[in-house]
Amino acid sequence: MHRGRSLDVIVSADIVNAPWSKLVEPKRYAVAALVAEVVDALCEPELAVPEAYALVARMLSAVAESDAPGALLPRFTLRLLDMLGLAPPADSCVRCTARLDGTHAWVDAEAGGLIDRACRESWRDLPELDADDLENFAALGAAKETGAAAVRARPRAARAIEDILAHHLGRRPKAGAHLAELAAETS
Ligand SMILES: [Zn+2]
Repeated sequence: MHRGRSLDVIVSADIVNAPWSKLVEPKRYAVAALVAEVVDALCEPELAVPEAYALVARMLSAVAESDAPGALLPRFTLRLLDMLGLAPPADSCVRCTARLDGTHAWVDAEAGGLIDRACRESWRDLPELDADDLENFAALGAAKETGAAAVRARPRAARAIEDILAHHLGRRPKAGAHLAELAAETS
């Protein structure tokens, strides 16, 4: 089986075992459409990332089995960004690289991540994350093998991930489903 980053390859290779009949249920379909759009926008056909292929396959299986599929999006997004080398660091300022103090950080989507107090311009009204949000943000992006991974996103962490994804896409996803809203459905 050829593994690539192109959506055509993912779709055709996945037909063998993907539970498509469950994916057409409207809420699941909205999430699956968003997954497909994000992968299509961020991945390049000529650059193979086998882990990203496996991640998408696992995500679609999980969406098909979930009654709250939107809740799976924040972690999927961070894991995909990580595999593509785009993940926002969870423990350091994306602008000055200083270590975050773990109690406060601000979401600077234009910079692609979180920033510390020193880099925060007071005139910018940036979303703030507290200690619990920061811990959750780190756990959402952590690889499963680390033992520190989380699936359930806190609302502010979900919104931060949504904003950072929009930065990498250069726009909000056309699929229209908002990560934070979909994630909030379950909480
Ligand atoms: Zn900084």
